[in-house]
Amino acid sequence: MSWEAEVEELLKGKTEGEVFEKATLQSLWKLMNKGYIDSFDFPISTGKEGNVFRARCQDRLIAVKIYRINTATFRSISKYLMYEPPQKVKKDRRSIIFAWALKEFNNLKRLYKAGVRVPEPIAREGNVIVMEYIGTEEQPAPLLKDAEVNNYEKIYEKLREYLRLMYQKAGLVHADFSEYNVLVHENEPVIIDVGQTVSRENPLAMEFLYRDVRNIANFFKKYISVDEQELLNYILGG
Ligand code: ADP
Ligand code: MN
Repeated sequence: MSWEAEVEELLKGKTEGEVFEKATLQSLWKLMNKGYIDSFDFPISTGKEGNVFRARCQDRLIAVKIYRINTATFRSISKYLMYEPPQKVKKDRRSIIFAWALKEFNNLKRLYKAGVRVPEPIAREGNVIVMEYIGTEEQPAPLLKDAEVNNYEKIYEKLREYLRLMYQKAGLVHADFSEYNVLVHENEPVIIDVGQTVSRENPLAMEFLYRDVRNIANFFKKYISVDEQELLNYILGG
């Protein structure tokens, strides 16, 4: 069997007829050959810019995020990459998407090291990222917007701490922070989706940080009292 056929076989029935381009199959193939992925369980999410799968590596459950090469909405991407070319990036679509995946992977590493609770980064190949899976054997952890939360105060305090660490220790601003990019697992928040995350030196960083703070404050205000200005000061403060 050819390697393409072999990967497609592994994905069969899990992508609802979706066809991956050759570069994606090749990345998946490399990850499987290197022993990072053994099998796929099911798609967790099918978004505009990519897919996330639940997969397995030996006994460990993992999450595999695949950035689409052909259909990704790229306009948003070039805005973020403009100020932060990861290295010399060629301008073809494939190279830009690869650079994007690498950027998310590097951001995950930086955040993980700084003690921000994000999925542990495991491997990256081309447009594919392998990371720690957040959830149970039965189902992935729900988003904060859908989660059954018993103590909003506690989740808020944790996120407040993570945003501060993210800014001060990792030197990063999430830039798409909201109840849509926080998972809740065992009553603890886990921050995801850091592809668009920028360095705090980025000329747009403050604009993004204000928006992040506003988003999360607006969400928590439905449940607890939140002082948006205090939150901002806490994140920026010495
Ligand atoms: P995007 O929003 O760009 O499609 P995300 O990184 O937010 O990409 O991932 C899409 C969805 O996949 C998330 O909303 C979440 O439900 C799920 N997901 C992402 N990463 C993980 C993970 N490590 N473990 C479990 N579920 C995940
Ligand atoms: Mn997301």
